[in-house]
Amino acid sequence: MNDRALLMIPGPVEVSPGVLAAAAEPPGSHVSPSVIGAFGRALGSMRSLWGAPADGSPVVVSGSGSLAMELAIWNVVAPGDPVLVVETGYFGDRMAQILARRGADVVRIGPEHPLGAVAAEGAFERLLRSTRFRAVACTHVDTSTGVRNDVDALVRAAKAAGSLAIVDGVCSVGGERLDMAACGADVVLTASQKAIGAPPGLALAVFSAEAVAARDRVPPPPLYLDLQSWLPILQAYEAGRPSYFATPPTSLVAALDVALGELDPEESWARHERVGAAMRRAWAHLGLEPLGRDPANTLSALRYPDGIDPTLLPRISARGVTVAGGLLPGLQGTYFRVGHMGWVTGQPELLARTVRAVGLALQDLGHRGDVDAAVAEVT
Ligand code: PMP
Repeated sequence: MNDRALLMIPGPVEVSPGVLAAAAEPPGSHVSPSVIGAFGRALGSMRSLWGAPADGSPVVVSGSGSLAMELAIWNVVAPGDPVLVVETGYFGDRMAQILARRGADVVRIGPEHPLGAVAAEGAFERLLRSTRFRAVACTHVDTSTGVRNDVDALVRAAKAAGSLAIVDGVCSVGGERLDMAACGADVVLTASQKAIGAPPGLALAVFSAEAVAARDRVPPPPLYLDLQSWLPILQAYEAGRPSYFATPPTSLVAALDVALGELDPEESWARHERVGAAMRRAWAHLGLEPLGRDPANTLSALRYPDGIDPTLLPRISARGVTVAGGLLPGLQGTYFRVGHMGWVTGQPELLARTVRAVGLALQDLGHRGDVDAAVAEVT
């Protein structure tokens, strides 16, 4: 990494040496045996990481997490469908915007209190009883607020009410416990650059058989967004056969294969739980508090203490660590965010460097905190 700052934003994240090496190989042909092998393995690894139902369909398409959101919505929602969005921040709002573009009849729950998880409020169940929603969309971890929803409970309730359940797992898959088949979710989507631990550039999702069937009753999405364009290709790759619809980013697929191969779901979830808890204890030693209720394990969204403002961030980066500012409209200048997901969670010295940089930058600005005690929590 030489003098490059340590990247501790909530995605993209630092990747492992093995992933880096795979991404740096000369690009392969999309119909070469090695790319077909890597693609097929990656799709198989997705099945186990997601806990996909046996008849589920993993999808990998060049694009970012937002493209994965559009894939989900355009293939299962038709204009006029009532859809409920559980909103705990910026990305729930994006989901609602994508749904509105599709012409869905969008009902939002949560935007008035994005910093508290909405599942406990009882309003969710009441809404589910009041309307037969075609689909319910929820963000597992909203990266703008650091709030983690009880996605398992939300999905189970949505399914019991007869709705399709769409989960934005961009900031959770690989880092937070989520078992698609066990809870019954119909689409669980993410992107390559977060807890999966690959470079940005791949939209990833698994669709249930019910979600794939839903495509038959909606007006065709744009060709590139259409599941029916991609599924035969992905099935061919899983079966080890060459196929083509649009050129996949072969270097990223190679990196994804290595990232998923390095990721044991149970071990990774447990590691993120341990690190998430250690980071929260570390922040407490520095007098930093989480922005919202139910903080996630994959990132920390931290309020600036009294007297501290966003000038803290350049001071942290001067100490060799890049963190992120706030993202939630209206509150942007009141908090900052530190990502702790993927490979870096197995590197205590990098976590320690991060905590120390934050602690010393706070001291520069006259804020008192026990930096050594904070660092000790993560080492
Ligand atoms: N959903 C969540 C929860 C996210 O964190 C992000 C990205 N930060 C997105 C969706 C959108 O992903 P992308 O930026 O890769 O388009």
